[in-house]
Amino acid sequence: MRKITLIILHCSATREDSRYTAEACRNDHIKHRGYKDIGYHFYIELDGTVKEGRPIEMIGAHCLHHNKHSIGICLEGGINRYGKHDDTRTGAQEIALMELLARLKEDYPQALIVGHNTLNPEKDCPCFDTAEYRQLFP
Ligand SMILES: [Zn+2]
Repeated sequence: MRKITLIILHCSATREDSRYTAEACRNDHIKHRGYKDIGYHFYIELDGTVKEGRPIEMIGAHCLHHNKHSIGICLEGGINRYGKHDDTRTGAQEIALMELLARLKEDYPQALIVGHNTLNPEKDCPCFDTAEYRQLFP
């Protein structure tokens, strides 16, 4: 089994008033980035639906230098209706993320929950504060 030390949170960097489903993301990653599959392990759509991406046993493609030992979760959204980076999480997404993190922390208690921007300060992703999740799931 892979050693998981990080759970990395992302956003799709798409507008909250348009849809960018897990399937659209998978297609983009395959067609335009040349990946074999979607880069993330989980993708949470605006309505809170959690779609499975790569199996956790497989290394993802979502965070340079950190893919080998991490799980990548992406939330649809991250850009507001004015085209600016913003916390656009819906209530349904917040609940879904909380449930997913609770489940993952049971299996990987040593994993630290971080944002993409925690590891790469040049990124805005995931466009919301991830400290609350580190406090809830230390
Ligand atoms: Zn990201």
